[in-house]
Amino acid sequence: MVGGETGRAQRPSAPSLFDVDSRPWIGTSWKMTKRLLEAVTYAEALAAQAADYSHLTNSFVLPPFPFIDAVARVLRPVGLSVGAQNVHWMSSGPFTGEVSAPMLVDVGASMVAIGHAERREHFGETDHSVRDKVVAALASGLRALVCVGESAAERVTRTEIEYVVRQVKIALDGVSAGDLPGVLIAYEPIWAIGEGSTPASPEQANDMHGEIRRTIVQLFGDVGETTPLLYGGSVTREGAPGLIVQDEIDGLFVGRAAWTVDGFAAIARAVAEYGEHCVEGRHARRVPDQRQEQL
Ligand code: PEP
Repeated sequence: MVGGETGRAQRPSAPSLFDVDSRPWIGTSWKMTKRLLEAVTYAEALAAQAADYSHLTNSFVLPPFPFIDAVARVLRPVGLSVGAQNVHWMSSGPFTGEVSAPMLVDVGASMVAIGHAERREHFGETDHSVRDKVVAALASGLRALVCVGESAAERVTRTEIEYVVRQVKIALDGVSAGDLPGVLIAYEPIWAIGEGSTPASPEQANDMHGEIRRTIVQLFGDVGETTPLLYGGSVTREGAPGLIVQDEIDGLFVGRAAWTVDGFAAIARAVAEYGEHCVEGRHARRVPDQRQEQL
């Protein structure tokens, strides 16, 4: 493990490799599901209908490592991004079983999820390893989708805001303002993720996104207004429209409900419908008031 409990100095700002693009986001991680044939069949079916929503959304799929190459070959040409579910913080070395950011780039990944709750729970991922992985991803030109979220225990003690804000601050500790456009945050409360859980209400999700937004702006200034904040945790096609219209929610990160092509497409269409209200690539809600009045 590199990095300790103390903060690391921010890297100096350099011109960003990443475009600021605030079309709403919709993506799925397949976690450890599907075999190669299923992966390619899914990708081909998704590609066949991507024209319905790809121009109005930033859509992405995060397959297991072995399928990234095959899926990227199908989805990238139709405007979808493909990424990984994890990455190592070093670019190469004696780390048996691990995969580095440059390797992900080689196989067509353009983004990577970092710090998912399941990695924190089952694989000992910490806020500090998340921070190191974010730095590594950005240095290789991968967008870093940083996953944060509190457990039910923090809700009981009403410390959830403090908990999530701390996660965000540590995760972004090594990021320069110039690299911030490469960062996305997924707020995924642990109590809302997976089988048998219920999603956060749109209000709960929106409130926490507001806290995350305030934190990022406090750390980085105005550029923090453009960091996409995605909600994840038991999103369904029925629940998606109510979530995506929230002021502070810029996208949805979906598990089970998007593991079928129909499920992904239904949610992507809901997000795209909202995307039609975006103006010149910016969410209408982020257009200054005067402009909004003219709309
Ligand atoms: C997730 O695990 O990131 C997730 C959002 O899963 P689900 O939608 O299945 O709750």
